[in-house]
Amino acid sequence: MAQKTIFQRIIDREIPADVVFEDDQCLAFRDIAPQAPVHVLVIPKKPIKSWAEIGEGDGPLIVHITNVIRDLAVELQLTDGYRVVCNCGDDGGQTVDHLHFHLLGGRPMRWPPG
Ligand code: 5GP
Repeated sequence: MAQKTIFQRIIDREIPADVVFEDDQCLAFRDIAPQAPVHVLVIPKKPIKSWAEIGEGDGPLIVHITNVIRDLAVELQLTDGYRVVCNCGDDGGQTVDHLHFHLLGGRPMRWPPG
């Protein structure tokens, strides 16, 4: 059996995380190495490896996650705006092979990203 990713271990509560939201479909927790005053990771509980592996049937799940991110931004008081990032694959800078969305806010973001 393939080794669990660190995020699967967080879902399974094998390692701790600062969880800010959870429901039957997804989990949101603070990044261990925050790149902004607010840096939350939102992940599906379904083990999708990356953006590239999102399937046709995952549409409702992805819409659900986008709604969760939108609502978390309000809850976390990101009233001046925020950035949502999904790194995909090596060139995208993905380091954990479990689909995740970064919600970053609390400071102005620069462009282009590095
Ligand atoms: P990626 O580079 O794959 O887009 O993002 C992975 C993110 O997961 C990174 O921002 C990294 O800091 C975060 N991360 C890695 N391991 C852990 C962990 O054990 N706990 C938490 N909360 N975040 C982690």
